[in-house]
Amino acid sequence: MRIILMGPPGAGKGTQADLLVHELGIPHISTGDMFRKALKEGTPLGLEAKRYMDSGGLVPDDVTIGIVKERLDMADAANGFLLDGFPRTVPQADALAQTLQELGVALDVVLDVVVDRDALLARLTGRRVCRACGATYHLVFNPSLQGDKCQSCGGELYQRDDDTAATAENRLDVYNKQTAPLVDYYKKKGLLLEVDGGKPVDEVTRDILKALGREKR
Ligand code: ADP
Ligand code: AMP
Repeated sequence: MRIILMGPPGAGKGTQADLLVHELGIPHISTGDMFRKALKEGTPLGLEAKRYMDSGGLVPDDVTIGIVKERLDMADAANGFLLDGFPRTVPQADALAQTLQELGVALDVVLDVVVDRDALLARLTGRRVCRACGATYHLVFNPSLQGDKCQSCGGELYQRDDDTAATAENRLDVYNKQTAPLVDYYKKKGLLLEVDGGKPVDEVTRDILKALGREKR
């Protein structure tokens, strides 16, 4: 399946993607994760992305489109993918459509995960991420059983620089201005499926799998 997971920062895209890719057997492609990995490795891409990520703004389209095209060309994406955090602008969506057309494939569905703003801010400011394996937790809604260590690998949990209250507010404003128009964009193409992301994690996963016609194994 070729799936886009849309929704504002904090909607639970990464959390759901990690669970869904196991069920669906397709790679999870997150542009945010790709930028953070590049930054950790100190590459020119990472350093450029940091200039925008720190304030909650978007990395320029040409840079972002370039890394996604390269990623979609890799062998493991040939039979499907779950895109998380891309596209975030109309030019990115147009570029994706062109790339998929060149590859001779098509999107199956765009899942729009809907969560209200107050809940998004609570989720973003309480998010903690494992420095070693990238697992995502929440101080209140999904705490690690190992306290401030990752329950799956023992790694240190940290707060992302862009998860402070002020930057989180800005990211939600950027989403409303630049990314929300994609809801109509994909609705017009008949691809959009809305998901209530305000429910507990396992219920959201179940709803998504049901909407995809796949029951949880
Ligand atoms: P996104 O990738 O959309 O930015 P994440 O998956 O990182 O969002 O989730 C943001 C925060 O909210 C994380 O701390 C995560 O543990 C928490 N979270 C995710 N889904 C839910 C949910 N359904 N209910 C409560 N908290 C959630
Ligand atoms: P995320 O992990 O999806 O919350 O993304 C973190 C940050 O990475 C965003 O606030 C942007 O600065 C940058 N980013 C991720 N994906 C994109 C994208 N598709 N276009 C532009 N910037 C992006």
